[in-house]
Amino acid sequence: MTSASAQDRLAAVHAEVVRRNPAEPEFHQAAREVLETLAPVLAARPEVAEAALVERIVEPERQVLFRVPWQDDRGRTHVNRGFRVEFNSALGPYKGGLRFHPTVNLGIVKFLGFEQIFKNALTGLGIGGGKGGSDFDPHGRSDAEVMRFCQSFMTELYRHIGDRTDVPAGDIGVGGREIGYLFGQYRRITNRWEAGVLTGKGVGWGGSNARTEATGYGNVLFTAEMLRQRGEDLEGQQAVVSGSGNVAIYTVEKLHQLGARALTVSDSSGYVVDDKGIDLELLKQIKEVERGRVEDYAKRRGTSATFVPGGSVWDVPADLALPSATQNELGAEAARSLVRNGVKAVSEGANMPVTPDAVRVLREAGVAFGPGKAANAGGVAVSALEMRQNSGRDVWSKERVESELATVMQDIHHTCWETAERYGAPGDYVTGANIAGFERVADAMLAQGLV
Ligand code: NDP
Repeated sequence: MTSASAQDRLAAVHAEVVRRNPAEPEFHQAAREVLETLAPVLAARPEVAEAALVERIVEPERQVLFRVPWQDDRGRTHVNRGFRVEFNSALGPYKGGLRFHPTVNLGIVKFLGFEQIFKNALTGLGIGGGKGGSDFDPHGRSDAEVMRFCQSFMTELYRHIGDRTDVPAGDIGVGGREIGYLFGQYRRITNRWEAGVLTGKGVGWGGSNARTEATGYGNVLFTAEMLRQRGEDLEGQQAVVSGSGNVAIYTVEKLHQLGARALTVSDSSGYVVDDKGIDLELLKQIKEVERGRVEDYAKRRGTSATFVPGGSVWDVPADLALPSATQNELGAEAARSLVRNGVKAVSEGANMPVTPDAVRVLREAGVAFGPGKAANAGGVAVSALEMRQNSGRDVWSKERVESELATVMQDIHHTCWETAERYGAPGDYVTGANIAGFERVADAMLAQGLV
């Protein structure tokens, strides 16, 4: 197949994705971003085209939608919607987080599940791709309400998951508290201690050391690899970080450990810029213990910190930008602002936070860009290590897990770099991540026949 006919075929696949999945713009975006890099693979490997692997990979193996009724503390009934999209299991059990946020719909879950296929393949740890969640909003809900919601959610979800089938974890709005309630209900319904059915569990009851830290740590390690490739390191670099949840907090922590300085964090109401660098203990106290807002951080920090309501955190001058909140949070205008201020590297802690237009701006300016499939894969990698510990009834030290995480992130960086070079796109981590992830899944699908 020539390169031009490969491109035509991929465009036709994308048109079919749009036709079959109407009103799912985030899924269309995620699919386009992968498909537009695959032409060289189709051109070089006729068996991939013959087996219709691209046509098959964009269609989830299974999609589950269900009703989640629950009662609030005043006895009022609410009805939310639950989702689990089991996208691809060629490499292992479906694996991917659950998101609880009012914006969750089928298209969001599909975009996340689709990305997860390639990310999980890149880890090399034998995990398929899936994602799930609900349009439930945990903000402002009591612990008892969150528990009742999680119990109702699991009362349906349990029949679709299992340590050899599908292994959910956390994502936006789902942290240690929610995983605990979900696991408790699963254990009660099934009467089984099946530790490997969920990851992100508490360290005292089947969880892995360093899972909480893994996504943020991993993204900083990936950024360090990108800088090393350019003959630089993290020492003395200033970074803008968005978000103030799990990924953002441990991004800040690892930046500080490696001699860089995080200047900002944000939430949906605005951002904080702290000239002295983010005070991690204060941030953890407010976000992890009190479940407060970044505005509270600014009020308690003193004169070095300012809260900017609304506004774009990407206007703060820095060497590095690590978007760690949500999809499409960094657009072309923000990218131009970062470039004007001399940014050297942008690395996605969140999933798809940088819009395609913004990626183009960064690429044209020669900024190193780490796509989430590669850069934030540390979280799911340590989840896979948690599954390993669970199946061996073992507990690994924090040092051991962190050392394995560092190796995985270096391997992913190397794989992306080397694949991009091999396919004629040197330095393009997007192409490298997409093709390397795709080839691993495609080889397994080819070997396993038409299923
Ligand atoms: P958390 O729920 O812990 O934190 C999310 C943060 O992002 C909060 O500060 C939240 O602010 C902010 N945020 C969420 N939605 C929006 C929005 N629409 N506009 C502005 N701010 C928003 O989630 P995580 O830290 O776990 O996840 C963050 C990102 O990282 C997501 O894209 C997720 O998919 C991705 N990711 C997470 C992994 C993990 O291991 N947890 C693994 C790989 C990727 P507010 O409280 O105001 O809503």
